[in-house]
Amino acid sequence: MKMKTLAIVVLAIAVATEAKTEEKVQVKTHFKPLFAKFGEDSTTKIKVVSGPEDVKMRNGRVAGKRWIATCGKFRFKLTIQDSTEVKLEQLVGRLEKLPKPYMKACVAVSDEGEDGIAIYASLGGARAHGGQGYINLIPSAGALVIAHEAGHTLEQVARKAEPKLMEMWIDAIKSDKIELSDYANHSHSEDLAEFAQVYAVCLGAGPEHLTKLKKLSPARTALWEKILGP
Ligand SMILES: [Zn+2]
Repeated sequence: MKMKTLAIVVLAIAVATEAKTEEKVQVKTHFKPLFAKFGEDSTTKIKVVSGPEDVKMRNGRVAGKRWIATCGKFRFKLTIQDSTEVKLEQLVGRLEKLPKPYMKACVAVSDEGEDGIAIYASLGGARAHGGQGYINLIPSAGALVIAHEAGHTLEQVARKAEPKLMEMWIDAIKSDKIELSDYANHSHSEDLAEFAQVYAVCLGAGPEHLTKLKKLSPARTALWEKILGP
């Protein structure tokens, strides 16, 4: 084989290998270094406007304390089980790491009879649960966990207005042609919740990161922005 031909063959293999690797890198991996710094530059400010009030919490009627907090136009509850060592300031500090639009999830879980963002001593082995009427956390669950659970909450809220939401999310996954993370592969709603977390990280880290996320996963980004709202 002549040298020139060999060089072309080598180059072709190199290009093919690179294309394959690029395709395999999951969305979350691209932003890994930003996760440790999540919330460092957040401008979200929460004001506690009343409390504490003694309450029986929704799970097992355990004793807890309840506060009412606001963040601009958002008004929501914070509830901490008495037997945990978690201080109100810790919970507020974690929530303030989240971008402001995510406070919409706090409001969604603060209706009559709901506990708002609630900290329990234990959740039977889980670190958190998120749904239309609850975001429950164990004491060690940080801001990234809350961002993920906010995804579950806002998905379920949005599904009431748009029953085909999950079908739309599945179409978005197909159209993006890229995996989000191993955990996201468990189910379509985990994919959505994982996306909510990655989006929160990129939104907090600056416009260049959000632009990169939009490029990597345009259909999920567009649909999540509709679910999250302004
Ligand atoms: Zn989840």
